[in-house]
Amino acid sequence: MTELYRHLRDFLTHCLIAIFLLSLAGPLLADSAATDPGDQHTVIHKDTTDDADSAPSEAAATATATFAPSLDEETEIPLANAVAAAAGLAEPLELLGTEIMPGTSQRLSWSATELFEGVSVSTPVLVVNGALPGPTLCLTAAVHGDELNGIEMVRRVMHDLTPAKVSGAVIGVPIVNVQGFRRGSRYLPDRRDLNRYFPGNPRGSAAARIAHSFFTNVIAKCDALVDLHTGSFERTNLPQIRADLRNPDAVTLTEGFGSMVILHSTPTAGTLRYAATEAGIPAVTLEAGGPSQLELSEVKVGVKGIQTLIHTLGMVRKTRLWGDPEPVYYRSSWVRADNGGILLADVSLGSTVRKGDLLGTITDPMNNARSELRSPYSGRIIGMARNQVVMPGFATFHIGIQTDEPPTGEVDDDTLGNEIGDSDDYVDGMSE
Ligand SMILES: [Zn+2]
Repeated sequence: MTELYRHLRDFLTHCLIAIFLLSLAGPLLADSAATDPGDQHTVIHKDTTDDADSAPSEAAATATATFAPSLDEETEIPLANAVAAAAGLAEPLELLGTEIMPGTSQRLSWSATELFEGVSVSTPVLVVNGALPGPTLCLTAAVHGDELNGIEMVRRVMHDLTPAKVSGAVIGVPIVNVQGFRRGSRYLPDRRDLNRYFPGNPRGSAAARIAHSFFTNVIAKCDALVDLHTGSFERTNLPQIRADLRNPDAVTLTEGFGSMVILHSTPTAGTLRYAATEAGIPAVTLEAGGPSQLELSEVKVGVKGIQTLIHTLGMVRKTRLWGDPEPVYYRSSWVRADNGGILLADVSLGSTVRKGDLLGTITDPMNNARSELRSPYSGRIIGMARNQVVMPGFATFHIGIQTDEPPTGEVDDDTLGNEIGDSDDYVDGMSE
């Protein structure tokens, strides 16, 4: 039983007690059930390990761990029924200087105080404050300005919510890095990656100031966070949830998404996921597709996953559940090109591969020399480069490796971390 669920269970218990008392003593006792669901004291384990995504090479293991989805006895939450009976206890949500009454939705705007051109650039913050009490779930997209799929996911999820039927609140920020988005760029105008500066610093660099403003004004209001990303630099990802699976609250969130691939990934310092987790806000990353495109099938998978999560958290009653088991990948590794040239893939996203299988070829366009990329592991293609010209060392295929050992609280092996002199995902952009 994780802290998040303990909190939800306690909340449900309050509601049931309230219903019981109300049935005995009438509506005068209603105030006694007004438990604020935001008062949880979530315990988050401090993460001190390197980012698994960025490890140049990791050992393979072959056993299988099958993921049990959300709706088992342990995690089923009839919270929606309880809060429906306790209607009237929802509270106004204060955000960005505005009070959003229960049962209403609003479009607010956030702008960082310090911007490059000296003019204020604002971005929409969509809020649905449900008529019924519950947690506040936040959805953020386009922290990298060229990652478009998440923008459309947030739009679809937010506009599908009916405030009168929501328990708790959903805050959606479709475009966090509006300056990168306007230029079609992953980065801020000074080439800084905003997702390496959270939680930010009000007296730091421009990126640190923007991060600080966003974190304190928006993220601090969240009880849980889903940060939406895509692959980077002409790479694309199978829709997947990345989470630190050593963190019980993060595991709870991953269990809510239904049929999505789960990848264990310790968050890189400075990412929104890392900073939120450090601040006691359970957070996961949803990766789907590649940058600079709108990919409808990936968008639909992401929307379905988020809607399933909202249901699983007891915030909306839905009948369309999505719960077929998907494997959990506790390990993953990128296969890098040893030669430069034209990369042509022989596998596709989601393909299952065995050790030694052909992944793709790299052909030198000048001398016609051709080399093969073969899989060092048995696993599944969870991310890959689009066909393109690559340099030696370019990360080409991301293989999810099933193991029978869940991640522990310690780094397994020093050799699995970043090698000295090998630049990590900051350059490769393979982390969110
Ligand atoms: Zn990203």
